[in-house]
Amino acid sequence: MVWGVVGTNYDKQRERMVRRQMENRDIRDPRVLAAMRRVPRHEFVPQDVRGQAYDDGPLLIGENQTISQPYIVAFMSQALELGETDRVLEVGTGSGYQTAVLCELARQVYSLERHASLAATAGATLARLGYANVEIRVGDGSQGWPEHAPYDAIIVTAAAPHVPEPLLAQLADGGRLVLPVVEGDSMRSQMLLRITRVGDEYPVTPLIPVVFVPLIGRQGFEPHTDIGDGGLL
Ligand code: SAM
Repeated sequence: MVWGVVGTNYDKQRERMVRRQMENRDIRDPRVLAAMRRVPRHEFVPQDVRGQAYDDGPLLIGENQTISQPYIVAFMSQALELGETDRVLEVGTGSGYQTAVLCELARQVYSLERHASLAATAGATLARLGYANVEIRVGDGSQGWPEHAPYDAIIVTAAAPHVPEPLLAQLADGGRLVLPVVEGDSMRSQMLLRITRVGDEYPVTPLIPVVFVPLIGRQGFEPHTDIGDGGLL
């Protein structure tokens, strides 16, 4: 094996990921597919799991948190229906991979992460890759980021106990909110919701069942809430 062609190897793996995991499923938005082809996921995962960067699943990134399954990143990005001039709020920066995809699709991204170490690593990776249309802050994203509201789109990448009221209030008219919400008693029973703002009304569309790590915060769960082992997005 000639490891001088490592970059090419990742490019091939990424192309295969987009074809098998996205085009073969239900990702149809050409802008989302192009973004998934551009963003180098291997740059956002810890060195020891780089070989699995284009696998069809989440990976641990530290602080007991995960980089989401690539298909879910594409699915949520598609559900947001982003336009080039949109301003987006992301709750749960994690590795910064979904953030990079949002940066490809929208004009400005504001991203909140409760773990300072993850926010720092994600910020450094995004800067190294040249993403300049993003601002990251450490804090409780369950309350949103009122200073920059209203947002054309809001994405939450951790499971909430209910739809956080401040996020609805920070959505622009016509805006879209995509988030996982825990249903019933089991933390592992979650539904991904798409909520649109139409004036003072907020119609809700259930999308697909998911299993995300918990949203921790004032509008979320208590710290140290455990969701159970394995398969978290
Ligand atoms: N989309 C990310 C990626 O691809 O790397 C994965 C995000 S991970 C599944 C969820 C993230 O939400 C974790 O990094 C977690 O620390 C963060 N989080 C949980 N509750 C939060 C809150 N209230 N505010 C901000 N971040 C929160």
